Amino acid sequence: MAEIKDNSTRLDETQNTENQGSKGYNFVEQLVYDDLQAGKNGGRLNTRFPPEPNGYLHIGHAKAICMDFGVAEKFGGTCNLRFDDTNPVKEDVEYVDSIREDIKWLGFDWGDREYYASDYFPQLFDLAVRLIKEGKAYVDDQTSEEIAAQKGTPTTPGTESPYRNRTPEENLDLFMRMNAGEFEEGARVLRAKIDMASSNMHFRDPIMYRIIKHPHHRTGTTWKVYPMYDFAHGQSDYFEGVTHSICTLEFVPHRPLYDYFVDELADETYRPRQIEFNRLNLTYTVMSKRKLLQLVKEGLVAGWDDPRMPTVSGMRRRGFTPQSIRNFIERIGYTKYEALNSVSLLEHAVREDLNRIATRVMAVINPVKVVITNYPEDMVETVEMDNNPEQPDAGTHAMPFSREIYIERDDFMENPPKKFFRLAPGGEVRLKGAYIIKCEEVIKDADGNITELRCTYDPDTRSGLPGSQRKVKGTLHWVSAAHAVDATARLYDRLFNVENPAAEPDRDFRDMLNPDSLQIVEGIKVEPFVAENAKTGTKFQFQRIGYFTPDLDSTPDNLIFNRTIALKDSWEKEQKK
Ligand code: ATP
Ligand code: MG
Repeated sequence: MAEIKDNSTRLDETQNTENQGSKGYNFVEQLVYDDLQAGKNGGRLNTRFPPEPNGYLHIGHAKAICMDFGVAEKFGGTCNLRFDDTNPVKEDVEYVDSIREDIKWLGFDWGDREYYASDYFPQLFDLAVRLIKEGKAYVDDQTSEEIAAQKGTPTTPGTESPYRNRTPEENLDLFMRMNAGEFEEGARVLRAKIDMASSNMHFRDPIMYRIIKHPHHRTGTTWKVYPMYDFAHGQSDYFEGVTHSICTLEFVPHRPLYDYFVDELADETYRPRQIEFNRLNLTYTVMSKRKLLQLVKEGLVAGWDDPRMPTVSGMRRRGFTPQSIRNFIERIGYTKYEALNSVSLLEHAVREDLNRIATRVMAVINPVKVVITNYPEDMVETVEMDNNPEQPDAGTHAMPFSREIYIERDDFMENPPKKFFRLAPGGEVRLKGAYIIKCEEVIKDADGNITELRCTYDPDTRSGLPGSQRKVKGTLHWVSAAHAVDATARLYDRLFNVENPAAEPDRDFRDMLNPDSLQIVEGIKVEPFVAENAKTGTKFQFQRIGYFTPDLDSTPDNLIFNRTIALKDSWEKEQKK
């Protein structure tokens, strides 16, 4: 994928690409920097992140958050959190709370600058009234279908509404009565009277207000008319003193309309500057809030924070770190053209960060018992295991070794191919941190399934003893059977089995779900240290298997671990394609 390669050159800060400005800034940062240099807005910098509280945040929002908060942080400005709560039907406090939590988790802070578009409903209403009085807005009695049918196309002008030439007095009377609840939803709208032949479709008498009788989560039943996003957004920026209104590319054609409305308010000294960047789109997932909501509502996932979801809460629950998400976003960068970003690059960033911080432990996912016949029955030794070789100060923890252990069933083969370096009849392997064992006998049940392996150990091969230098090809992870704790593993795979579900308009996106995206494995065996430290948020590397974290559902009596990601990385391979 060319677009990713292009961006990934940003990995190395010293490689200055044409995408970057003089100081390694991305193009948004460069524009902000230039404005500050030029002394615009008295050197003031104020951005905002404006989510609509109609769903949980996803990784696309994280990209916007990193920009909005990041650029403010970088240049000593501030960033507001503004909930664009203009549609009470779809919005809820549950979403407000989750959005706050997710932004904090990502590592950003809006201080006391938490605002709501609904705070500006009075000012917006006043502006609407003024525009009506000045003959710049009118009440239209047509249905939304009729209005849409009159829009025209980019190359043919639209048709003027038969209600377009109502008098200001009549419009004002109707608008007041709309807000008094006299008319049903959909019966009337307030439209800006601009230009039905404009080459910008958004200027063709856009709707400013519609009737909604659903109570609002903040303003209750005060209002019966609610501003459209396009009539609220630009002015909200203005009311808040936002200097740089950073958003995604689909808002480019809306910008002149925002300017048009802000012109009705602003003097020459200040107006927000809108800058647009490309959305984050990720392979093997969908990013539309509408579709994500559908997955939740229809029970196709366990909730907004299902670890397979591209939501911030899902990624947190799965075990992704905020740092890995921020590193990924830094690498894909900000451009002015749309791209599809590979989920393997995100996974690569997750592995990289977890490799740095995760505690190394032993767990056996698909256990088979090994009995070491020449090891004393009731002897238990303690092996000191490195917590993290990447971190010199991470220390060690103790792991018990005894006569009966579990190893991974896949690590044994009765009739192995030539290059199989794990355990086979008559063969030897090292048990990581402990002894070399040799397989002497294979025990099977009546159906021929292997139930136990009988081995002997070489007592001279433990670390610190002379035989510890003896070389064997394979090293296996293991846990002591008597000390192991049972747990459940949830193994996640990609939610969709199609690279870009959004590019398949003829297919129902639900038909593209990966039926194997969750595999539940019960009866895995973890070393005692894992059970003792299975707190939410702990990051483990189950050695040779992958990165795991306790699920929110995990309890001391019923341990459940989410596989965050397997150890194998496909990103480098994908890059060579
Ligand atoms: P919708 O408006 O359809 O409900 P949305 O994803 O645009 O969905 P908002 O809550 O309006 O949701 O988004 C808040 C901010 O996040 C906006 O400024 C928007 O531009 C930005 N944003 C949303 N999706 C992405 C994305 N995929 N990549 C980058 N920024 C995004
Ligand atoms: Mg939006």
